[in-house]
Amino acid sequence: MGRAWSIPLFRVFGIRLEMHITFILILAYAAWMGSGHDGARGAAWSVLLVALLFVCVVLHELGHSLTARLYGIPTHRILLLPIGGMAQLAEMPREPWREFFITAAGPAVNVVIVLLIGVPLWTAGLVPTTEQEVLAVFQDYTPLALALTLLVYNVIMAGFNLIPVFPMDGGRIFRSLLAMRLSYLHATRVAAWVAKPLAAAGALYALLGPGHILLALLFAFIYIAGDMEYRMVERQERFRDQVIGDLTARFVRTVPGHLSIDDALWLMQHEQPREIVVHNGGGPVRILTPGDLRRAARERPRSTPLEAVAPQPSIHLQAGWPFGVLSKELARRKEDRFAVYNGSDFLGILRCDDLERAAAWERLRATPPETERPRRRWMPWG
Ligand code: ZN
Repeated sequence: MGRAWSIPLFRVFGIRLEMHITFILILAYAAWMGSGHDGARGAAWSVLLVALLFVCVVLHELGHSLTARLYGIPTHRILLLPIGGMAQLAEMPREPWREFFITAAGPAVNVVIVLLIGVPLWTAGLVPTTEQEVLAVFQDYTPLALALTLLVYNVIMAGFNLIPVFPMDGGRIFRSLLAMRLSYLHATRVAAWVAKPLAAAGALYALLGPGHILLALLFAFIYIAGDMEYRMVERQERFRDQVIGDLTARFVRTVPGHLSIDDALWLMQHEQPREIVVHNGGGPVRILTPGDLRRAARERPRSTPLEAVAPQPSIHLQAGWPFGVLSKELARRKEDRFAVYNGSDFLGILRCDDLERAAAWERLRATPPETERPRRRWMPWG
């Protein structure tokens, strides 16, 4: 969901509200459907209904965002997509109760709207009960029809979001409840595992039943998002207790910054390092990946010094920093390897692709050799 495809609207409670460009298609579609019924009046009514629906969506997302703010977690933006809203929180807290309240606050907003509209209408006897009454209400563009439509929207929104398909609200609530008893990783695994068949069934139902392509896409999207989030949690939890230094490759090829692209090409051909670390005597290093070098060789004169073409890493890591705290932040960055320092001394490279391998060696190092362990032998004579 690139930033280029979203249009900034305005700020609510200091949170940037953005509309994805495809959202215009939904408005256009609503206007077109409405005009088919009743010309300009119908089109205006349809657009009004869609706009109100998305006001409710924004209120739902604000429920999440403002509760998160109580815990000191900021929201980067609220994005309106044709498939609904998305509040991009800086992080989802690991504490089950916090996740529970932040998540439950969204559907709770819809429930409050239902009560605010439903109770006065009900006490005034305005809620239609028979089919004829329903048809009569929706025949005309009246405030009552509008209020009832809003009521239905919010009932559907609360109900739909509470389906326990991780990472939808219901799935997150489910995960947080599980995490009160199980480990965070185990709870996520169960929630993600339960979500898959539900999401698949939802997509199938949407395709075979009501035929809503958009709904099927939404379930497909949720299926993938749940899997991705589970993998992220798995990685984060596995390396949680390790420090960056344990996962850092120390034997890396370093060269002075005045070497040229030509020299680096020779080096790549004959030594085939995973990357070339470019230093300038002291201070932070630059990392030149094979991809960077190929690009530089195509675009720049071969005599260009490496310090002019190797990119500066966006973050300098310290060997003693815990990996668990940083893993999310690193996953967000576009590079896949980072320079690691011991104080101001360069130590080595943290390669995200190699984390599993580094951790496997770490485990093996921590295991005593076979000879130190008592051998268990199968002896038929007892
Ligand atoms: Zn929600």
